Amino acid sequence: MAQWGHVRVFSPWKYNIDAAARRLLQAGGWTAPDADWLPTGAELIDDYLAPLAELFGDRVRLGAKVTAISRLGYDRVRTAGREQAPFMIRLADGSELQARAVIDASGTYTGPNVLGASGLPAHGEGEVFVDHALPDVLGTDRDRYEGKRVLVVGAGHSAATTLLALADLPDTPITWAIRAGSAARTYGGGDADALPARGALGTRLRAHVESGRVQLLTGFFTHRVNATGQGVEVVSRDPSGHEQSVTVDRIVSATGYRPDHSIAAELRLDLDPVLGSTRALAPLIDPNQHSCGTVPAHGVDELSHPEAGYYAVGVKSYGRAPTFLMATGYEQVRSVAAALAGDWEAARDVQLDLPETGVCSSDLAEAQEQRIGLATGVSGGLLSAPLPLATVGATASAESGGGCCG
Ligand SMILES: Cc1cc2nc3c(=O)[nH]c(=O)nc-3n(C[C@H](O)[C@H](O)[C@H](O)COP(=O)(O)OP(=O)(O)OC[C@H]3O[C@@H](n4cnc5c(N)ncnc54)[C@H](O)[C@@H]3O)c2cc1C
Repeated sequence: MAQWGHVRVFSPWKYNIDAAARRLLQAGGWTAPDADWLPTGAELIDDYLAPLAELFGDRVRLGAKVTAISRLGYDRVRTAGREQAPFMIRLADGSELQARAVIDASGTYTGPNVLGASGLPAHGEGEVFVDHALPDVLGTDRDRYEGKRVLVVGAGHSAATTLLALADLPDTPITWAIRAGSAARTYGGGDADALPARGALGTRLRAHVESGRVQLLTGFFTHRVNATGQGVEVVSRDPSGHEQSVTVDRIVSATGYRPDHSIAAELRLDLDPVLGSTRALAPLIDPNQHSCGTVPAHGVDELSHPEAGYYAVGVKSYGRAPTFLMATGYEQVRSVAAALAGDWEAARDVQLDLPETGVCSSDLAEAQEQRIGLATGVSGGLLSAPLPLATVGATASAESGGGCCG
């Protein structure tokens, strides 16, 4: 979160504070922030996470990077007695811990998707500098962008937010490249959008494209990047073999995130082949069917792997689906913790107290924007092409429920 501290989220405080955390904090005399305010990442840390961490004191081990998780004396193949063996957690400093259970909330922020349109790195991608989503264009990163030719790749809210910020920089030519044949999905429905905050972002972005402030390249399938004397040439090759290219000074890749399950490679995971979430969770978070506002409550049952006692929670649990909300994650953790404590009734009584219309306060977003700048939704954003997921029964469509993710 500190890495995107300058970004204002779309969901107000009332949906960003976990109930158990609130109880603990209030018992310690904490004053809750304004329930309707949209905090930045930095405000989420200062006004919520830092005071909470203080309460935990030395029960939190700081500066400890987990490099691998296994079972003591068991590789992935050995079965007899496996579930009785403690987990063995190896840290970057070489030390090892043992645990009865592991809740892996390590996120996806350090696993950005590649620029390459087919999910593989574009040729030469590793040899040029690429900024990942949401640089602080109007703040600390301004010098890197002002007066430079900038390419933004991606069709989600992160791309839209970055483009709108760049448009405020003078003498900064902006190109926006998307795989889709049109930006209609990023623009949303304008005034008629089920998600007005998304509509407002989209309307402004469309105006910049129509005025020529932002040059939109559609059908752009990034294939190759080459550093040249004139800048970085970014070449698209679409599935028919047709090429187009643009030469820029800076590239912002806002193409979403993917989970890295390598620390759990010795555990028995059952991952959905498309999203990389658990298989049971995948249909509930499928971005073809859901926005973050319509994902149903879920908990320990949907998060369980064949490896008893290991749970990935939070945004990592969603794999590549951009539909995660803090509120959903809090309920996941409550359910998993209840199950580990043996209270299966509480673990299975999953609930989400989110309004039908989604958690993103559009009027407030507009009002705050006037004063302090744009908000963004969950990054990763809109898919420019549908994912090949099987249709599932259940839930409302993404358009009817609302939310603030792609
Ligand atoms: C720009 C942006 C805007 C968003 N806006 C909203 C919003 O409006 N509303 C909303 O509800 N959600 C929003 N989200 C989605 C989501 O709520 C956040 O991504 C949230 O931070 C996810 O929490 P997390 O704890 O799962 O992961 P993270 O916050 O990413 O935390 C993961 C933590 O694990 C640590 N870690 C990683 N690997 C290891 C390791 N090997 N060993 C030890 N520690 C490790 C990391 O350093 C980090 O501290 C937004 C996300 C982004 C990126």
